[in-house]
Amino acid sequence: MHSVLTTDYHMHSTFSPDGHHTPAEICQAALAMGLAEIAITDHVEWEPGGRHLRPDYDRYFDEIEACRATFGPQGLSVLSGVELGNPHEHRAEVEELLAARQFDVVISSLHWLDGQNVHDTRCFNGQGPYPVYSHYFEKLGEIAASVPCHLIAHFDRIFWPGSTLYGPPDVHQVEEPVRQALAAMATHGRVLEINTRFLTYEPGWNDSIVTVLRWFREAGGTQVAVNSDAHRATEIGRSREVGQALLEAAGFEAPWRCPAVQAAGS
Ligand SMILES: [Zn+2]
Ligand SMILES: [Zn+2]
Repeated sequence: MHSVLTTDYHMHSTFSPDGHHTPAEICQAALAMGLAEIAITDHVEWEPGGRHLRPDYDRYFDEIEACRATFGPQGLSVLSGVELGNPHEHRAEVEELLAARQFDVVISSLHWLDGQNVHDTRCFNGQGPYPVYSHYFEKLGEIAASVPCHLIAHFDRIFWPGSTLYGPPDVHQVEEPVRQALAAMATHGRVLEINTRFLTYEPGWNDSIVTVLRWFREAGGTQVAVNSDAHRATEIGRSREVGQALLEAAGFEAPWRCPAVQAAGS
């Protein structure tokens, strides 16, 4: 028996260009589905073409405060957060942002691989899956070692376009670069995220997720989060029972809880 997961630390509001609901609408939906803690982690992105995207943080923090006032008394902890895209390539700006603003949850993501969006099959460019997977995990390790963050998001995201092109991955073929990335995450105390977006995808790669989580444990990793990466209110908390089952199959007892919340809670 385990308790139902009541946290979701990765989601996007209208402060992200691809978010569809306001922070207040997100909080309302999270509360309605029985969540107790959420973080609204809008995008900070440096696109390869030179465009820089980030929320208007004065407005963002005002809205987070307003949500805390409204939804806190109803039983929902609302955390501030950010998802940094390719932060290892923008270290000075990242440091400046994190010094200027107090985020409860800082997420790092690899969204761009050699200038191509990792959501796009074009990032494979005829190379076959494994050289690209290998390169992706090298970069994830670089982020884990160099960027001050809590979480490494959607470590398996590259398997989505890869599976579309080549079928489900055999993660053993990239065991060494994956283990190196996981060792960097464990050494630097990063939380590995199970992103629930593709857990019900067919044909999926949930067996590979469990293998990677086991390797993370063997590397000394102790913390795994289960997050929805919702861009709409209806996606909050999606498939979290599947994510929790994978986490337990890999030998982790419970998902990560944000330390700021634990310290503040009773
Ligand atoms: Zn992302
Ligand atoms: Zn995201």
